[in-house]
Amino acid sequence: MNIYRYDIVFQEVPNHISLAFYVCGCPLRCPGCHSPELWTEKTGVPLTMSFYRTLLLQYQGKADCILFLGGEWHSRELVEFLKEARAADFKTALYTGLDDVTIEIKSHLTFLKTGPWRAELGGLSSPTTNQIFRDLTTNTVLNHLFQP
Ligand code: SF4
Repeated sequence: MNIYRYDIVFQEVPNHISLAFYVCGCPLRCPGCHSPELWTEKTGVPLTMSFYRTLLLQYQGKADCILFLGGEWHSRELVEFLKEARAADFKTALYTGLDDVTIEIKSHLTFLKTGPWRAELGGLSSPTTNQIFRDLTTNTVLNHLFQP
């Protein structure tokens, strides 16, 4: 799995500080995509398990959630990364442009954002959005937390 970059983010998972990984190779190509640099694997570098473990240690106490922006197309690797995050006591989140992901992936997630980018409908802060942000542990839709 190649990543374009990683960063600390505050808004993608409301009420949590997340270490976010931007995964390369998104096959969806939504018109108006905010991150076309993620469409190819070539823009990134491999995320190795040893480097990932180092980051988990480094961010323990500074972040409480590990977020993958994409990566469901590498489901086996993604699941391994999610397991490792859970074992290190992080919550886990995935932003996917699909309308659903596999039960196996979901079983290792705390939060899941589904739905492709549709400019005319807007993102999670829009009342007309097609995207859904759920807490999978309670099966609750949390879109209201993104409203201004
Ligand atoms: S799912 Fe996200 S990264 Fe992929 S094409 Fe759509 S907006 Fe871009």
